[in-house]
Amino acid sequence: MISVTGSGLEKEIERRCGEKVRLCFQCGKCSTGCLFSPAMDFLPHQVMKLVQLGVEERLLSSRTVWICASCVTCTARCPNDIDVARVVDTLREMALERGVRPAEKNIPLFHSCFLANIRATGRISEPVLMGAYKLLSGDLTSDVGLAVKMLRKGKIKLVPSLVRGRREIRRIFRESRRKEMARR
Ligand code: SF4
Ligand code: SF4
Repeated sequence: MISVTGSGLEKEIERRCGEKVRLCFQCGKCSTGCLFSPAMDFLPHQVMKLVQLGVEERLLSSRTVWICASCVTCTARCPNDIDVARVVDTLREMALERGVRPAEKNIPLFHSCFLANIRATGRISEPVLMGAYKLLSGDLTSDVGLAVKMLRKGKIKLVPSLVRGRREIRRIFRESRRKEMARR
């Protein structure tokens, strides 16, 4: 049953990102617009309902929090102006902070490789990113054919390029980390 004052999870979400999940009246418009919903275990409107009900453990260990691509289609479609994508993003952050084992283990690994690449060079280098991801995931052989095709067509640059403001980028990372620690 939904508590009149809202679940602990609902309050936690509001404290962290300001979104008022209690305003959701389950119209389902967020879910019908979500292109990634076929791969999700909970559709966006179901996520909102589970937040209202305080079903925290199940949500933090769901596939949905990792499958969501933060495309914000759901957010744009919500008649109550709830930033649904931000709510899912907040759940993802909470899952990471609490050390919940991700249902899609390679997605957070890909995120880490992506961020490490940006932090080091300021720009994504496909060979560096994919090399790190493939090594760490142990999935060395899939996509080899595609990589060869892309190389032949000049779609992938082998030598990574660096941006000038790398110091600035590292500062942004440090600041973001500091803010994250302060929020906990
Ligand atoms: S932000 Fe996530 S939940 Fe929302 S529409 Fe995009 S993929 Fe779906
Ligand atoms: S579109 Fe908004 S109100 Fe409708 S179900 Fe999704 S979050 Fe709830």
